[in-house]
Amino acid sequence: MNPLCFRSGRSVIAASRVIEVLEDMGLIDPEGSRAWPLPPETDRELARVDWPRVGAPHTGSRDGAVPARVMKELEAMAGSGDDGRLEEVLDRLAWYAPIHFSGERWGVYIEEHAVITLAGRIGARLPAGRITDQATAQDAIRSALYTLYFHEAFHHYVESFAIRVELVEKTSRYVPYHHRVYSRPTGDDEPVEEALACAEMLRRQKKESGLKAIHRDIRRATRGLLEDWIPTLPGGYRKGLDLEQEARFKEAQNRVSSQIQAGTSVSSGDEARWRLIRRELYRGICDCRRNTYLVGTWGSPLILRNLCHPVTG
Ligand SMILES: [Zn+2]
Repeated sequence: MNPLCFRSGRSVIAASRVIEVLEDMGLIDPEGSRAWPLPPETDRELARVDWPRVGAPHTGSRDGAVPARVMKELEAMAGSGDDGRLEEVLDRLAWYAPIHFSGERWGVYIEEHAVITLAGRIGARLPAGRITDQATAQDAIRSALYTLYFHEAFHHYVESFAIRVELVEKTSRYVPYHHRVYSRPTGDDEPVEEALACAEMLRRQKKESGLKAIHRDIRRATRGLLEDWIPTLPGGYRKGLDLEQEARFKEAQNRVSSQIQAGTSVSSGDEARWRLIRRELYRGICDCRRNTYLVGTWGSPLILRNLCHPVTG
């Protein structure tokens, strides 16, 4: 594989190259404890999300109706009036497996029932019965998938920042940060990384070109759901709405940058220095979209396979 791949005019590095260097530096920690689940066991069906298909317009290239059993689930969830079902969706049913812990199996993993649950709750914000329409159900599923991806992809951007700092400083930054800062919040609003990841779910709704194909009512319903849901989440997650605006987002990102470099939540007082290089350092270092997987239920084949292509290595 070409070590340098180009996507959307931006370069990403083949993960194998990054892993090789991190391994040489002794920075990969496969046995280490981590806050997020491991990549799924092999008895669960796994497929790469096919983003061009997820973001395809209604005409032409969209294929595959939403299966009847999923339609039934969406209807049931849209009618239940219970957002409590979303409790475990972030970082449990959809999660990021960092390169430092998972090596070649790094990536964003999203259980398909997390997508269906979120889509059902989006459907609950539409006029009664609307989710029974095929095109609406397809849009709700696509919107849910993008929204979960935005959150988990941000965790890759944080790891990308840490990797760049490690390469320059020749010392471990990500694993100590993960253990000492991320996993040990010292206040109700931490981890700050989660507030930023939640803010990304809202911020990228406006930027993502694939969402343009999704009906505006679904986009509005998704936004309404996020605005109601995020403040009910624990710790740092619930501060996501506060960081939606650019200035607040950047300020919090600068704080996380210092937390990673210092390995402590204590403010260094000179966090503004990151503003000169923030944008470059947080770019995804590897192709996070290509490494996004839909995960099936134990022992059952994937239902939403029309949004994926098989894992070929
Ligand atoms: Zn998260």
